[in-house]
Amino acid sequence: MKPFSIGKIYLNEIKERVIDINPLQGKYCTFDCIFCPLGPTKFKTDIPHNFNETGAFLNTLENVLKQETIDVVFINPDGELLAQERISEVVNLIKKHNIKLKIISNGYLFNRGEYETTLNHCDEVIGELAVTNEDDFQKIQRPLKGYTLEDHVSNLTRFNRQYQGKFILDITILRNYSDSHEDIERFEEFIKGIKPDEIYVHTPSKKKFKKAFAIDEARLQEIKKQLSLVR
Ligand code: SF4
Repeated sequence: MKPFSIGKIYLNEIKERVIDINPLQGKYCTFDCIFCPLGPTKFKTDIPHNFNETGAFLNTLENVLKQETIDVVFINPDGELLAQERISEVVNLIKKHNIKLKIISNGYLFNRGEYETTLNHCDEVIGELAVTNEDDFQKIQRPLKGYTLEDHVSNLTRFNRQYQGKFILDITILRNYSDSHEDIERFEEFIKGIKPDEIYVHTPSKKKFKKAFAIDEARLQEIKKQLSLVR
């Protein structure tokens, strides 16, 4: 999505009226995944940033929420939403209108107390995983210095221990990196620890990354079935 954009209303699978919003000014993220559909991370960061356009964006969003019938707002940014210094205002504005709120993040920062209240106001939170060992985490997801896969999984786990909403774990399966039987067993262990309410499993579909990273449909369905059985 474009910076500070509000998408058109669409219907989700249960016929709710949804809008996607992007409250960031560019690609800010704690990672720089080589398979990222949004392209390279321009600002690799784990601190909040002040953006001049945020005030105008909040006004526009408020008008849209007043004028349209919307059931769900999905904060689906081009990067890490917690890089937006005023993210709690965005969340509070949406909740003031009694609208269901869903957000997506890689989840590395979910352990930080300063974000917990904001995240706990969201009805659905999605956290992401894509690899199962430290070497691949560094090589493929290229996080900020000092970040580890162990901490990533631990941060997701600790967050969901206290979160009362619906927690969704989004797993990207990458050919030759996270598609072996050992990888799937490792994901099973992660799932047992994190205890998500729902799991999304997919493989890169964008043309640019499909050739290098996508697994075939039959294997994807097999993995989905296996992971959906984990309790
Ligand atoms: S964590 Fe998500 S947004 Fe950030 S670089 Fe990776 S795929 Fe892109």
